[in-house]
Amino acid sequence: MLAKKGLAVSPSPTLAIDSKAKELKSRGVDVISFGAGEPDFDTPAHIREAAIAAINQGHTRYTPASGTPELKEAICRKLQRENGLHYSPAEIVVSNGGKHSLSNAFAALLNPGDEVLIPVPYWVSYPELVKLNDGIPVEVVTEEKQGFKVTIPDLKKAWSPRTKALVLNSPSNPTGQVYTREELEMIGYFCYEHEMYIIADEIYERLVYDGLACTSIAGLGDYTKKLTVLVNGVSKSYAMTGWRIGYTASAPEIAGVMGAIQSHATSNPNSIAQKAALAALDGPQEGMAEMLQAFDERRNYMVERIVGLPFLKALKPQGAFYVFVNIEGALGKAFGGREITDSDDFAARLLEEEKVAVVPGTGFGSPGYIRLSFATSMENIVKGLDRLEAFLAELRG
Ligand SMILES: *Cc1c(COP(=O)(O)O)cnc(C)c1O
Repeated sequence: MLAKKGLAVSPSPTLAIDSKAKELKSRGVDVISFGAGEPDFDTPAHIREAAIAAINQGHTRYTPASGTPELKEAICRKLQRENGLHYSPAEIVVSNGGKHSLSNAFAALLNPGDEVLIPVPYWVSYPELVKLNDGIPVEVVTEEKQGFKVTIPDLKKAWSPRTKALVLNSPSNPTGQVYTREELEMIGYFCYEHEMYIIADEIYERLVYDGLACTSIAGLGDYTKKLTVLVNGVSKSYAMTGWRIGYTASAPEIAGVMGAIQSHATSNPNSIAQKAALAALDGPQEGMAEMLQAFDERRNYMVERIVGLPFLKALKPQGAFYVFVNIEGALGKAFGGREITDSDDFAARLLEEEKVAVVPGTGFGSPGYIRLSFATSMENIVKGLDRLEAFLAELRG
């Protein structure tokens, strides 16, 4: 029999929708996909140039397993400059992407049976990564009227003596909501009192709108900094998803364990990509502002259209590039005489009838919802929402 741990893991549903849409597209079907989980922009030129130079200058060998000293120093400078956080290179582990950093964190922190609190809706990989590392994911359901943000009563209800850590994702994928400093202070204090680690996934930290500032829970004070494994990377902020560079900042003991694990599992992250990440962090940041501006325009358009459609509700995202849409009003209605039973069915029928791909909320633990990404052109957004509108106009009952 194959490994129980491996068999217990379900493949990523967000990637599944994306591949279905891509498959239809390759057969010549005119599909509009709102499934993308990555920026639709190219990696900026100066970053690509840095990678080419790295190859030509011979940076093609093993580096230290947890990342090059120069990149770790650049990450420390970034954390100081942009987040007001002071870390030293020994507290940084550079990995093969934010997802790998999360995996390293769970591997370093969890013993069999340890519970990890995961606010719902959650990013699809958290529960699976916890299970793969012998932990028990404990879902903490949040409410839309609380902005899908976990509250102290929610945490109290979910806590047990086996609770080891809390996963906090702000800005959130899939909801786009951002925790305020005050909210983080309450959560941070709860974790401190209960001696829990905080896995702070800040991969969308640069993608926030309306001049909002994104607070890092590690920055509240020593009481949270010691407990926090801050996870970030260049994937989303610099349109570098394919390069696979993520990093953590944490207490040096945790960094040491993560580095040791990584040294056996993967060795160093790609040497060329590390040079590119260095150029991203140290180089000009103007290109990022343009990307943010484009996301912001699409966000405004998409939310305005969606809240004007029948059966649908949505909170305006404050960060990331997703709109999380409540479709409960459409469930139980019929399309072409056949009832729409749940969000999986809604997504499947929308793809079948109108050739629009969205991600059903089931994968995020929220079955009454769908996620639409605005990491696609304005032209696609207009066309896709027209089709969604046509689909909803056909609902009866
Ligand atoms: C995209 C994403 C990541 C990981 O990104 P990598 O591509 O592995 O760097 C981590 N967390 C969330 C919530 C994400 O959406």
